[in-house]
Amino acid sequence: MTQPQHHEIVVIGAGICGATITNELLERGKSVCVIDAANSPANACSRHAYAIAHPHIGKGSPRLLRLTHLAFLLAEARWGGAWQAHGIFQPSKKDRAFNRSEVSAHLRSLDLSEDIAIPLDDEEAQRICGISQSGVWISRGACLNLLQTSEQLLRDHKNLTCLWSTRVERLEEYEGIWRLLDGSNVVVATAKKVVIAAAIDSKPLINSLGVHLPLKPVRGQLSIFSIQPNDPWVSMLPKVGISGDGYCLPAEQLEDGSYRWMVGSSFDEGEDDLSPREDSDNFNRGQAKGLVDYADGDPRSLVKAGEFVGVRCVSGDRLPIIGPLAQRPGIFLATALGSRGILWSALAAKLVSAQLLGDDFALLARLGFAADLVAALAPARFLAGALAAPGALASNSKPIFPSEPSAK
Ligand SMILES: Cc1cc2nc3c(=O)[nH]c(=O)nc-3n(C[C@H](O)[C@H](O)[C@H](O)COP(=O)(O)OP(=O)(O)OC[C@H]3O[C@@H](n4cnc5c(N)ncnc54)[C@H](O)[C@@H]3O)c2cc1C
Repeated sequence: MTQPQHHEIVVIGAGICGATITNELLERGKSVCVIDAANSPANACSRHAYAIAHPHIGKGSPRLLRLTHLAFLLAEARWGGAWQAHGIFQPSKKDRAFNRSEVSAHLRSLDLSEDIAIPLDDEEAQRICGISQSGVWISRGACLNLLQTSEQLLRDHKNLTCLWSTRVERLEEYEGIWRLLDGSNVVVATAKKVVIAAAIDSKPLINSLGVHLPLKPVRGQLSIFSIQPNDPWVSMLPKVGISGDGYCLPAEQLEDGSYRWMVGSSFDEGEDDLSPREDSDNFNRGQAKGLVDYADGDPRSLVKAGEFVGVRCVSGDRLPIIGPLAQRPGIFLATALGSRGILWSALAAKLVSAQLLGDDFALLARLGFAADLVAALAPARFLAGALAAPGALASNSKPIFPSEPSAK
């Protein structure tokens, strides 16, 4: 029988998360093996070609706000070339009067300089964004094609090995080395260090280590609508991306004069069905009306022209899970990116490689990773006492999942 390949570092999962971490490790001079169940990069949720990124500026825990700011700067620096920085407008809540100095003070409190985010009244927003609503203009907000980016990150490299069409079913430790086994109990590879970046399918892999984390699938459908050139909707279509209750990209005029407009997304908690649904398109038509504040818009004018359906992985407290599984030395997790795949994968690449390569705290701190932020992302936040009894539930026995569906 042939010996399985041995690698210093194996990354399980070639979506945007695994691809970005791999690329960072290659840039740092390491050899990496990537293993994916599919036959090419980004075949699951990261097939998404229309993902947007901006720092979170609304309500949220102070840590979430600091983390998305840090992650946004890392993402922008990493993907500058592929970054379609058309800007993102975030409308004010409709029940609140616009108060420029209040919004400016809020943005300053988030350390967001004016070259990232500024308040706009409805006239300014109309001029800059083509939207007659007050809100915050995030001029550096952008869209990224996750599929193309993942492919680019995993292009041929002398230190990169890719094992495609290989599903890892479980992991076991033997004399300080991790064995990765497939469904026939064959060891497909061995490694000293393993990064699990398999989104919702990380769950059985983590379970095979006797560890249980609150992860759940959230199905989402983004709709691509076609709009005729003479339709009243045309005057409402935005020139920029909008992020609010749902999100949309700038509308694009095609050669035949019609418009193509991406609007999303449904947020179907606990579901993982990838077939397209009409009710998700109808939900997105409703989102479209809200985003451009066009209550009278006829939803039938938004003619379905395509869609993207994916399954997000979401953790119990909605933050990603990034860091070492301390009680299982050599195992690192990067999962639960939720609806922020762009931000969290850029952040995971820096953090996991620093942790995996043993960088000291001072270096992490220089990158912006304050100790409390690292702790807020660490798997350990769910695990007090859980590892002592393999099979036991995580300490967070009541994960905080919102009961009402919300969209993004
Ligand atoms: C409708 C929708 C809209 C979204 N909008 C945005 C947005 O605007 N902005 C944004 O930033 N994010 C957005 N997201 C989220 C983003 O798409 C995800 O966060 C991101 O793609 C997750 O990347 P990942 O690498 O963690 O997972 P995936 O892309 O799912 O990759 C996981 C990989 O692991 C592999 N794998 C799984 N199990 C195994 C195994 N056992 N062995 C080997 N390989 C395995 C899979 O084949 C897959 O390639 C959206 C998601 C949806 C569904």
